[in-house]
Parts: sequence; C-alpha cells; structure tokens
Amino acid sequence: MKLDGKSAIITGAASGIGKDIALVFAREGARVAIADLNKDAADAAAKEIGAGRALGVAMDVTDEKAVNDGVAAVVAAFGGVDILVSNAGIQIVHPIEEFTYAEWKKLLAIHVDGAFLTTRACLPHMYRAGRGSIIYMGSVHSKEASVLKAPYVTAKHGLIGLAKVVAKEGAAHGVRANVICPGFVRTPLVEKQIPEQAKALGISEEDVIKKIMLKETVDGVAEVAVFLAAFPSSALTGQSLVVSHGWFMQ
Ligand code: NAD
Repeated sequence: MKLDGKSAIITGAASGIGKDIALVFAREGARVAIADLNKDAADAAAKEIGAGRALGVAMDVTDEKAVNDGVAAVVAAFGGVDILVSNAGIQIVHPIEEFTYAEWKKLLAIHVDGAFLTTRACLPHMYRAGRGSIIYMGSVHSKEASVLKAPYVTAKHGLIGLAKVVAKEGAAHGVRANVICPGFVRTPLVEKQIPEQAKALGISEEDVIKKIMLKETVDGVAEVAVFLAAFPSSALTGQSLVVSHGWFMQ
C-alpha cells in the first residue's frame, strides 16, 4: 500500500472529489480526517471508510479557530499529519458586473483563505516531523479562464502561487506542495452550475454539458493525489498537474 502509516487531512471530503480521495487514501493504508462544513456528511463518509481509519471533523476552512482546533484534534488522534489535501470549494457563476462583493469575497475566502489557514495549521507539525505533502485542489481554471467565473479563476490561479511559496519554504523541512488541476468532474458542485450556466448563457442544459463541459466526468483525480502524496523524493514539488482527459493541454 502506497500510504501505509500516513495520516491525512482532506478538506471538503464529505462529498465529490474530496470524498473519493479519502476513500482511495484509506484503501492505500492512510488514516484520513474528513474535514468539512457538513459534519453529518463528514461522519457518514468516515463511517463508510471504517472506525479507526477515518475521522469526521467539523471545519469551516474560512474560520481560523475552527481550522486550528480541527488540525489539533486530528494531530491528537493520529499522532501527526503527513498529508494535507486542501480541497474544499464552491462555485458561483455570474458575469463580473453582476457579482456582489459578498459573493466575490465568499468564494475567495473558501478557496484561498482556506488553503492558507489549513496550510499554516499543518506546517509546524510537518516541519517537526521533517516531512509532509500538501496538495491543493486547483482546476483547469488554475491555467485557463472561462466566462462567468471571475472569482473562481482568480482563486484557482492564486493556489498555484501559494503552492510555489510553500514548495520553496518547505524544501528545507522535507515538505512538498503541488496542485492538481482537474477538468470537469460531475459532482454536486458541477450539477448546480448546469442550470445556472444554461440560464446565464441562454442555452439548454444539454448544451451546457456538451458544449461547455464537454465531458460527463473525469476520473483519476484521487489516483493523482496518491501519486503526489506518496512520491518518494523531494524532487516533485511546486508543480501543477492537469488531469482532464486531454480537455485542456499546456
Ligand atoms: P462538492 O460540492 O462535491 O464538494 C465540496 C465540499 O466542500 C462539500 O462537502 C462542502 O460541504 C465542502 N465545503 C464547502 N465550503 C466549505 C467550507 N467553508 N469549509 C469546509 N468545507 C466546505 O465539490 P467538488 O466538485 O468535489 O469540488 C472539490 C474541489 O475540486 C473544489 O475545490 C473544486 O473547485 C475543485 N474542482 C472541481 C471540479 C469539478 O468539475 N467538480 C473541477 C476542478 C476542480
């Protein structure tokens, strides 16, 4: 097993991509903390994985105290944290001129402030252990833009900057940081956008799927997370990897 003996915190892991990563990490031998705003769903996902291997943690990643307390609870339960997957995220779509300032700030807070707060809470434990792997859930939108997604594209580009700084600062302590950039994965986050984009663009929901999203689903994100988390040397750090079935190529 590739992650035997490792402990991981995965934010937003009660649903979608984060939950899949939690299941695959556990299958690879890791103990996983499922940190999510939705505690009931986090507990249900932890139960699915099994007692002793998984822990549901109530955490709003934009709340400094909740993040610090949650990470401390995981470290107390697991004895440390080897892997952080900063994955929690939302989507809000509007043309720029229709975005409220509150919506802009909410999206940036969850994606960017959440990544900073969870990173800051985990790093001292990783530095003490002399090892760690941080994975940020970026997107194809870390590298490309789409209409209607100004704060999301801004936030996802920003995560690459954060990962590069963590890679530089963490190098001396054996800590790596990388970004996974998935294409469309048909999770609740994406389901919600289909009618919203159809309305905003004046096209059918079917056309949103076919013409805007192109693919019904993308697998393999969790496997790439295992690859990055388990990578055996400090050489692979500060990178961002697109996982989109060739939907986007650099
Ligand atoms: P999802 O809606 O299925 O899951 C998101 C999870 O994050 C939910 O469990 C939700 O409760 C949690 N969450 C939301 N706000 C939170 C907060 N403040 N604190 C803690 N948890 C919070 O979404 P998903 O599609 O699995 O998305 C996961 C990540 O993958 C996001 O960062 C998203 O931007 C990214 N991503 C998704 C796709 C896609 O096509 N689905 C593509 C590229 C990147």
